[in-house]
Amino acid sequence: MQRMKRQNETNQVKRVSALLAVVLLLWALTGCSVFPFAPGAAVGAAAPDTQTGKTQSESEPQAIRQTFQLDPDHGSAVRMEGTTLLVSIFASDRDTSWNFESEQDQKVIQTTLNNLKVASAYLSEQTQRYGKELSFLYDWREAEDLAYTAEFDDSMVRQDTEKANLQIVWLCNHIDLSALADKYQADNVLFLFFFNTDTSSVTDGANSELRSWCMPHRHENDCLLELCNIFVNSYLRTMSPADYAHEILHAFGAKDLYFADEGITQDYVNSLHFSKDIMYSTNRNSDRITSELSDLDAYYVGIAPRPAVADEWGLGLSEFDAD
Ligand SMILES: [Zn+2]
Repeated sequence: MQRMKRQNETNQVKRVSALLAVVLLLWALTGCSVFPFAPGAAVGAAAPDTQTGKTQSESEPQAIRQTFQLDPDHGSAVRMEGTTLLVSIFASDRDTSWNFESEQDQKVIQTTLNNLKVASAYLSEQTQRYGKELSFLYDWREAEDLAYTAEFDDSMVRQDTEKANLQIVWLCNHIDLSALADKYQADNVLFLFFFNTDTSSVTDGANSELRSWCMPHRHENDCLLELCNIFVNSYLRTMSPADYAHEILHAFGAKDLYFADEGITQDYVNSLHFSKDIMYSTNRNSDRITSELSDLDAYYVGIAPRPAVADEWGLGLSEFDAD
């Protein structure tokens, strides 16, 4: 739930690791924007066109809009309107794994899909209130290139941007972002990594409260790909559709409102006691979202003007106002 705060490295080994990660990241970002990747590198890559049985590259050219370009100001999830791809990646690491043969794990996987369905419908409906059209493509049962499996030889279940860099490298190596976005004529692409944490997971390996989190594009980091880490069970709760919607909103620029942070004052946080603002609190129901998208959230994701409350409480600018 919280955005990540960079941790201090304390020994030489960690510094070397961090340097290596930065080098890999720079290589990866270059690779993302310049080189196409060989199809078939990932589970579900280059899905055949079910209408024709041909792959996309063999199909007749369609009326193609300009090729999807990563937006240097807003990353891969740009503005909360248009067509948005939610790409699911079921990730295993040193501490957690998915057993695709297991009935129990299959049930959890189906729950992630249900949560995406409820969250997507909710967000589409909410954006309509602001006169914007927003649709989501996420259902990998209908489009198999919207789901992947990944394995990391590291402990990934924690809030750590250095670990997220490994995920960025993985994405660049396994998913051809431009081809995927072009195929679906997508305006936004968000990668959701699902980790199969168990219900007793309260803290992560670094002893912090275990919370799902997103790494949205910010001007202070170089990453243009946007990803969320969903720990299916985290900090005494099983993630609900409202939690998913909360995380997706982060990718578009929404800010947490349950603690003071850059641009969010403690006074404003205090004023929200019992608020149903979805960036302040999320409901637990599995079939509906009763938390609310406020005018302030809508402002931060770029679909509404700055509300009076932002000036009344001295809140920070939306990343869209900073343009
Ligand atoms: Zn959050």
